[in-house]
Amino acid sequence: MLFTTSFLGELFPENQGVVEDNIPINEVTSDSRKLSKKSLFIPLIGESFDGHDFLKDAFNNGAVATLWQKDKAIPNFLPTDFPVFYVEDTLVALQQLAHAYRNKVNPIVIGVTGSNGKTTTKDLIGTVLQSPYKTHRTKGNFNNHIGLPLTILSMEKDTDVLVLEMGMNHFGEIELLSKIANPDFAVITNIGESHIEYLGSREGIAQAKLEIVAGLKQNGLLLIDGDEPLLREIRGKENVRAIGFEEENDVVISDVKMSTTSTLFRLKNIEYTLHLLGKHNVKNAAFAIEIADKLQVPIKKIKDAFINLELTGMRFERTKGKNGVTLINDAYNASPTSMKASIDVVKQMTGYQNKVLVLGDMYELGSSSKDLHRSVSGVITNEIDRVYTIGEDTKEIADELCAQNTSIVAKHFKSKEALVEELKHVLNEQTIILFKASRGMKLETVIEDLTSN
Ligand code: ATP
Ligand code: MG
Repeated sequence: MLFTTSFLGELFPENQGVVEDNIPINEVTSDSRKLSKKSLFIPLIGESFDGHDFLKDAFNNGAVATLWQKDKAIPNFLPTDFPVFYVEDTLVALQQLAHAYRNKVNPIVIGVTGSNGKTTTKDLIGTVLQSPYKTHRTKGNFNNHIGLPLTILSMEKDTDVLVLEMGMNHFGEIELLSKIANPDFAVITNIGESHIEYLGSREGIAQAKLEIVAGLKQNGLLLIDGDEPLLREIRGKENVRAIGFEEENDVVISDVKMSTTSTLFRLKNIEYTLHLLGKHNVKNAAFAIEIADKLQVPIKKIKDAFINLELTGMRFERTKGKNGVTLINDAYNASPTSMKASIDVVKQMTGYQNKVLVLGDMYELGSSSKDLHRSVSGVITNEIDRVYTIGEDTKEIADELCAQNTSIVAKHFKSKEALVEELKHVLNEQTIILFKASRGMKLETVIEDLTSN
């Protein structure tokens, strides 16, 4: 049980039905189809649907109470004792309820934002803390103004630590999420170029991420990517921990070494082995170490956690495809920073004779999109053998590489079918293929074609 109808009655005093009877609520949901017994239904108004039209389904599926927007007529099929809580706006009410429930449970709250690495860092923090503490964390990528409150409302009453991913496209969004969550720890993983279309510049992006401070507890701690020039000026401030590779940081990561399956690094004179590849993931792990340290997690437990990671899929996920080819599915999302980071990892991987990059378009890069795409070619050096691009703006990468006249084979494709045909020539044990693009490119369908028989 999360709470009872009396808790809702205190928050939303305009109501009807048997509110004071303390009816237990086990679940809060806005989806009338996925609702289980003893749920509170919150009808949200979306672009194409209005949740208020689905109250009957919710009721039939076991909802025991509902929020209801005042300007909507309440259907007359409801029994008179069914608890209905009237609110001005159901979305705002969902956020208020999440905030109140967060305060009722009162766990240690960790908020994670940044252009790249939020999900990975959230998972790393959750994994490192889960053995001593009962932790609850964002599932998948449920990180917006609806997903975050619903995540809070799905934690059990005895949760010790809540780890929340906070995503955004526009100014003001992180401030809202941070005020709902009121974190004890806030993390800014990095500043990249994602959503530059709406935020104007990298400075704008940095400013938008720093909104996380708005909801941070007064004595809370802000952990930042200390190597990022745009965050350097807050380095050294009280309640800020700068983490990175530069000597000037509060926490310095050093001695990074990569094997085919893991990355070794040193932090505060302790060596760690992380079952993830790449320097960017070392930084993500360092945030988790720092928070675990503050919460007195023994170092042995942190080390064990890095070996038994539970991460969210499609983030540098390695699989074997046809004829023993190695496929890396990193196609969950992409920005120039994350694309360059992933290419760097592939460059450093040993044991392959043929390294192939399949790069698709990166969305939402605004008017400088073509330049930002072209900038990726700067990190493609002769450790890479082939570069295949697909989409519109990625053509810039292939064109730039061809113009440079290097030994790298670069080719642009107009269709996935043609791309798959070409890839069929390189399917063998010596080949590794990285797939990287924005979500909307659906590159995983190409991976499926190279995996299934
Ligand atoms: P989204 O905005 O889609 O929620 P996210 O911020 O949650 O993305 P992840 O899903 O953790 O990010 O990682 C996406 C990709 O970003 C990874 O596959 C990797 O290529 C890259 N990445 C991860 N961490 C970093 C980092 N600290 N710096 C730069 N790139 C990173
Ligand atoms: Mg994410």
